[in-house]
Amino acid sequence: LETQLNLNFQNRFSRLGSQFYTHLQPTPVKSPYLIAASPSLLKQFDIDPTVTNTQDFVEVFSGNRVHHSSKPLAAVYSGHQFGVWAGQLGDGRAILLGELNASSAHETPSDLHEIQLKGAGMTPYSRMGDGRAVLRSSVREFLCSEAMAGLGIPSSRALCIIGSDQFTMREMPEKTALVTRTAPSFIRFGSFEHWYYNNKPEQLQQLADFVIDNYYPHLKALANPYQELLREVVKRTAELVAQWQCVGFMHGVLNTDNMSILGLTLDYGPFGFMDGFDPSHICNHSDSQGRYAYQMQARIGQWNCHALAQALLPLIGDVDAAQDALSCYAEHYETSYLNKLRQKFGLRIELPGDQDLFDSYLDVMAATKTDFTLAFRNLSEVTSQAGQQENALRDLFINRDELDQWLLRYRQRLQQENSIDAERSEQMNLVNPKFVLRNYLAQQAIEKAEQKDFSEINRLRQILENPYTEQNEFESYAQLPPDWAAQLSVSCSS
Ligand code: AMP
Ligand code: MG
Ligand code: MG
Repeated sequence: LETQLNLNFQNRFSRLGSQFYTHLQPTPVKSPYLIAASPSLLKQFDIDPTVTNTQDFVEVFSGNRVHHSSKPLAAVYSGHQFGVWAGQLGDGRAILLGELNASSAHETPSDLHEIQLKGAGMTPYSRMGDGRAVLRSSVREFLCSEAMAGLGIPSSRALCIIGSDQFTMREMPEKTALVTRTAPSFIRFGSFEHWYYNNKPEQLQQLADFVIDNYYPHLKALANPYQELLREVVKRTAELVAQWQCVGFMHGVLNTDNMSILGLTLDYGPFGFMDGFDPSHICNHSDSQGRYAYQMQARIGQWNCHALAQALLPLIGDVDAAQDALSCYAEHYETSYLNKLRQKFGLRIELPGDQDLFDSYLDVMAATKTDFTLAFRNLSEVTSQAGQQENALRDLFINRDELDQWLLRYRQRLQQENSIDAERSEQMNLVNPKFVLRNYLAQQAIEKAEQKDFSEINRLRQILENPYTEQNEFESYAQLPPDWAAQLSVSCSS
């Protein structure tokens, strides 16, 4: 008995009306094949994992056949890129197939998740691009989406990667691939800016009402729902960036067209996880000014919220109300960042001087670029009474005197709250990941995939599903990056 691919696409976004998008068909690719799929996401959408091996599945998620319930479209949006108004952008290589019901979704009141093919061919918004995505960037997006889910950080997800031996031109010819990505909504800050800067208040309101109705229905009854929408998005954005900072994640292209109205990590391009800690690290090779460096992300999140506030101003009504909603960014970011750091350091109570203690550790790390992930993971080894050597931690630092100075303070602080070593260590391991998607790990998976060996993609995905759990057989995936990793660079052109 053959298992069937049962899909029932809803087309909620398409009911917004034709000004918001263009209906079109994905462009077929030559001889598509399955590269990888996410078991947890298949389960959410109630898709039998064995179906992924069928021609049916590959045809639908390569865009070669449009499912009868789907009305594919590319959405229009605009945005600020690197701080400059860029005008109209839009889905240049992503095509929305429609929405599928997710049985176990709980992040929004609605259970419908948008399903997009990324790399499905040209759209009216492709500008100079070819509408395709290369294997390398598709693998990175797939793995990072699923890694973020494992870390517990809001993100779009990735259902599968479909490959093709068709080549597409970048700096050199590269194999194309498609990622099927999902999110309750892919609406961006730039979707609102689009109508604001085109002076279309009706469409602006229609979009805001759509977002409130479907994703923030509790705001409808409030006095100024648009102000409250802004406030919610500002809070979610601040919270999201705080989470990024705490795992050393750098997005790389925080343009307003990459900012989710739901506070999700969106649009994986030249992202990176911090290896050796350098607050000024720039993961995007094309970002020469460092606008999107690690230490800039909190400020940029706020800048982007200002851009959204500007676009929502006609709906909110007055500047003071918009300012009021925006003003919670700083406080929300600080509180949430500090609370997360407190957990990372294994502290239960708040005491004056905590922030300075945290900053000092980050300074000691930065002084000789200690590995970010391991400097936190191995901190759980420290005991509240001196005596036992914290060898795995010490091995990470070249500046051991500075580390020892700091450890004196840290131990005192632990004693101040009568911290219990075993308990604290267990708690810390729940928030300090052991495994993150280091650039070189992704690179290894990509190189094998170029040779049609997809085992490493699957292995990495599986490891990163439980990044806080010790996985003895995969110890090597938690080690310091090899020397060649320092030479890796990623840019926007993928
Ligand atoms: P990004 O910097 O990846 O967020 O992309 C900015 C804009 O360029 C968006 O409108 C994308 O859809 C579009 N874009 C990026 N890459 C391509 C491509 N290969 N083909 C067509 N459009 C693209
Ligand atoms: Mg984008
Ligand atoms: Mg992109």
